[in-house]
Order: sequence, then structure tokens, then C-alpha cells
Amino acid sequence: MDATCALCEQADARRLVAAYRIKVCATCWDLAAEGWPISAEPVLFKALAKQGLLIADRNEKNRLPRDYAPPADFAL
Ligand SMILES: [Zn+2]
Repeated sequence: MDATCALCEQADARRLVAAYRIKVCATCWDLAAEGWPISAEPVLFKALAKQGLLIADRNEKNRLPRDYAPPADFAL
């Protein structure tokens, strides 16, 4: 059942980040409280591109939002 964190590769990823469809560990999740660190962006962009997902607008700290709801009409 152990999933690997998409960001730090620890084997205790329990948090599903719906917007990016990745799983991360609690540590990485906590670090992203105000948006994902710049170092995480390559992984996030890759995850989005691979799945044909939209890239979120940056927040007021110029970070990618930790999670967000896709538009209601977004077809899965
Ligand atoms: Zn992690």
C-alpha cells in the first residue's frame, strides 16, 4: 500500500493532491502550506503535462497553489 512521495521519494506518501494527481508525504505537504516550493515545480509541471491537466494560477506568493478545485466543467 505504500506510495512513494512524488517530491522527496519517501515511501510514506499518504496525501493525495487532487489538483496534480500526485501523492506526497506529510512533510512535503506541510512545506507547501503557502504554495509549492520552486524546487517542486518541475515535478508538478511534469505531472500536469502527463495527465493533460491545467496549470494553476500562481498565488500571491508567486507559488503554485498546494491544491485547488478544477473547474466544474473539467472533464476527467
Ligand atoms: Zn515528500
